[in-house]
Amino acid sequence: MVTQLDQQVVVLKDRVKKLQSQKDSLIKELDTIEEKFENQDRLYRKYFPIIIDMVAAGDTYFARACNELSGALKKGTSFVKIAYIFEQLKTAMIKEGIGPAPVKKKKGFFASLMKSPTNNFIEDFKQSYHDILNNLRSTLDKKYATRMDNITTRILNAADTGDIGDIRESLFSLVFVYISETNQDREKVNSFVQDIVGKILDIEVKIATSYDQTSSLFSSNSGFETLLSSEMTDLQTTSNVTSSLDDLKIQITERLTSIETALKKKQLKDKAIQAVAEKNRHIFKSGFAKLKQELNEATQYSEKLEEKLNLDQLTGSFNRRAYDKKIEDEMERFLRYGTIFSLLVIDADKFKNINDRYGHAIGDKCLQEIIKRSIPLLRKNDMLARYGGEEFVVVMPETDAAGAKEAAEKIRQTIEKIEFLYKNETVKVTVSVGGTQVQEGDANHLQVFERADIAVYKAKENGRNQVLVH
Ligand code: GH3
Ligand code: MG
Ligand code: MG
Repeated sequence: MVTQLDQQVVVLKDRVKKLQSQKDSLIKELDTIEEKFENQDRLYRKYFPIIIDMVAAGDTYFARACNELSGALKKGTSFVKIAYIFEQLKTAMIKEGIGPAPVKKKKGFFASLMKSPTNNFIEDFKQSYHDILNNLRSTLDKKYATRMDNITTRILNAADTGDIGDIRESLFSLVFVYISETNQDREKVNSFVQDIVGKILDIEVKIATSYDQTSSLFSSNSGFETLLSSEMTDLQTTSNVTSSLDDLKIQITERLTSIETALKKKQLKDKAIQAVAEKNRHIFKSGFAKLKQELNEATQYSEKLEEKLNLDQLTGSFNRRAYDKKIEDEMERFLRYGTIFSLLVIDADKFKNINDRYGHAIGDKCLQEIIKRSIPLLRKNDMLARYGGEEFVVVMPETDAAGAKEAAEKIRQTIEKIEFLYKNETVKVTVSVGGTQVQEGDANHLQVFERADIAVYKAKENGRNQVLVH
């Protein structure tokens, strides 16, 4: 007859068997991992010294560190020592200007042997920032080299997310300084900055993905742990039922205790890792949001600077710099597609006399007025710019010589009518205008300008206050 006790023994034995098999499969898994690492380790130790020996010629700091590394690998030195030599190697590379390109290849040699999700994450970050820095290096002048070297060193030495936050800040302030100081074409600078912003957004996406993976890893782990825990609680309760099962109880309890201890340790460790990962995620999220905003502000600032750079301070009109750009664009369009344009050169007549007689302030007012009155007479696509002194230019896209002459005549007549009051006198100012249309054979915009300039000169010769279009 099967007693109740016998039945309980069967149940307990069955559970012990289950636990045993779970333990076995865990150990098997561990063995596979260990074997994989050992294989990798053997591989590195076998081939690295051969490769490194070839590199380690000479008497540089880098070569000496290579030699040391090679020796350590051959001898089978401890991991900690090898990691330390790698650090020295990194420093040497920075000092001797060997980095940053080799970093990509170097990544993962030994780091892969002990990669936790957090480690992976920081390595990825370092690599991505390094790429951004390389991008900056290829664009920024030499004068930023020290700053960039400094950031490179910090990237290589970054150990935790706090370091990476600081690096991001420095990277940003470097970009900002560059934007403020550069004399280069602002449009290009802006698109470059946008490119950098884009890259940083890419990193953000990458991190989000990596965190998803980390989270699912943790949730699958915790599922397994819950199962094992409940199994054990069950087993312990059952084994407490009767004292005649003492032997079995002792045996089971011992096993359970050891598994339980291991499990608790694991849980604690996992929790700590998860907490760090979670904290990092928050740090990075807020950091990126801030960075994005700051970079956008920097871009806007840069655009404003660009605007200022194109304006003439006295009259508020476009300046010579803006004119150069516009006429270059128009010339390119003409050479490529045959789209015509015209150019006017406007020169105030006997302006020296106005200054001499009424003073510079009145002269300045006249210049401002010439601009103010002329702009409404032009088309939206025309560009009026102060070429210098009392000379102005008008670039007129898709306008032929006849159209240009018409506009020039309107400008001349309007200005002729302006009267300023100076004490009891009226001040009058007139302009001479020369113009030309771009034509077959014009190879660059200077040729066009020269024709218009000659036309003004002739208009002056002919008695001033008149238009002459070539
Ligand atoms: P012309 O009819 O031959 O062009 O005679 P002009 O006196 O206008 O020509 P010139 O080139 O000899 O002199 C240009 C004058 O324009 C000299 C300078 O005092 C004046 N001028 C140039 N820039 C400014 C400015 O920003 N403000 C004022 N008030 N005068 C200026
Ligand atoms: Mg002049
Ligand atoms: Mg003049």
